[in-house]
Amino acid sequence: MFDALTERLSGVFDKLTGRGALSEKDVDAALREIRVALLEADVALPVVKDFVKTVKERAVGEDVIRAVAPGQQVIKIVHDALVGLLGGEGEPEGLSLTGEPPIVILMAGLQGSGKTTTSAKLARRIQTRDKKKVLLASLDTRRPAAMEQLQQMAEQAEAGFLPIVQGQGAVDIAKRAVQAGRLQGYDVVILDTAGRTSIDEDLMAEAKAISDVSNPRETLLVADALTGQDAVETARRFNERLPLTGLVLTRMDGDGRGGAALSMRHVTGLPIKFVGVSEKVDGLDAFDAKRMAGRILGRGDIVALVEKAAEEVDQEKAERLARKMAKGKFDMDDLADQLNQLKKMGGLGGIMGLLPGMNKKMQAQAAAAGMDDNLLKQQTAIISSMTKEERRKPELIKASRRKRIAAGAGVGVPEVNKLLKMHRQMADMMKKVGKKGPKGLLSGFTP
Ligand code: GDP
Repeated sequence: MFDALTERLSGVFDKLTGRGALSEKDVDAALREIRVALLEADVALPVVKDFVKTVKERAVGEDVIRAVAPGQQVIKIVHDALVGLLGGEGEPEGLSLTGEPPIVILMAGLQGSGKTTTSAKLARRIQTRDKKKVLLASLDTRRPAAMEQLQQMAEQAEAGFLPIVQGQGAVDIAKRAVQAGRLQGYDVVILDTAGRTSIDEDLMAEAKAISDVSNPRETLLVADALTGQDAVETARRFNERLPLTGLVLTRMDGDGRGGAALSMRHVTGLPIKFVGVSEKVDGLDAFDAKRMAGRILGRGDIVALVEKAAEEVDQEKAERLARKMAKGKFDMDDLADQLNQLKKMGGLGGIMGLLPGMNKKMQAQAAAAGMDDNLLKQQTAIISSMTKEERRKPELIKASRRKRIAAGAGVGVPEVNKLLKMHRQMADMMKKVGKKGPKGLLSGFTP
């Protein structure tokens, strides 16, 4: 899967990294090619549009990291956007299995999607990794063969299997399974519901009725990644009727174009929890957005390089500030720097709480000094209408200079006074906290 997409993107990236400077035109051209590559990989159009928009916005808004080539930075931005599209950074979302046993997992999906195979794979995974006892039950009353298939696979998975009772309806089987799970000491009961070749009202009504009586903790939709946009549409339809908690994409080992995998999360808002990677009972992997993005882009080296360079830039800034603070210096340029960082991080409120050595009173002082987001822009404007000298030695700024600065920034003198006061208070705080050890403070101040 993804081979064609990987190759196309690789071509785009080669062009980007082949040159020193990038103009907006270069970036636009690259984005156009990325757009075509995604569409050819069968990614849904709204998803492609949003993706390209995100990358463009970040490419324009991002600070330039001098240590890396602009093309490399663009690759990192595309990488991050792809990780976001697939579900974001962080540990893969597993299953919620704690609480009063038995925990019920309901499996839904069309016939042939790999639902039965996935049920058995999941049972095996939960037994071996989570060390929990699993009971499998087939609710496919119309297809005796499907029931037998699950029984065989349950054996392979070394999981329990609910005996088949001829003539019993799906809802009753679900009730019996939960009861058997409770009486026989199972931690988890997996219900493999019936599938149809297409979505119909009967199928949905039955699944809903089973869900209502079994109160599942997880309801997973199994979808075949090879069916592309059909899989996405199926997921959307099921999601309208059932309280789905996640998706499993099967046949990721096949050579589809991958569009379904890339569109799923965005279209349904549901996390992809697992992917099927073989027909065997151990062929189920936890889905990891970062790893998947890395595989698709195949530029892990560049991504790591840019991450490291970005850290170093922040580190340098932090160290520079630390040296100044240690000397009890915190001038207007530093304040402007901090305001910029705050803007990037979405305001001061949250940051204040992060600062070690910052007590409630100091936080209240900061709040009283008017450090809210709306003011950030205005404050930056005031600082930029100061002269270099004034920025370095704010104590020079007396009445007449205040008037000039206010006029330059298009504000009143009281606003300038407020900023000067805020700077003084911050400088005081810095001095106090600085003595306690600047490192801790800075870790709070840099993103
Ligand atoms: P169900 O009708 O939804 O229960 O589908 P099945 O579980 O019977 O699966 C249909 C076919 O797909 C079977 O031949 C499975 O072995 C195969 N299959 C299921 N998941 C995967 C997968 O992740 N990779 C591959 N290669 N085959 C799979």
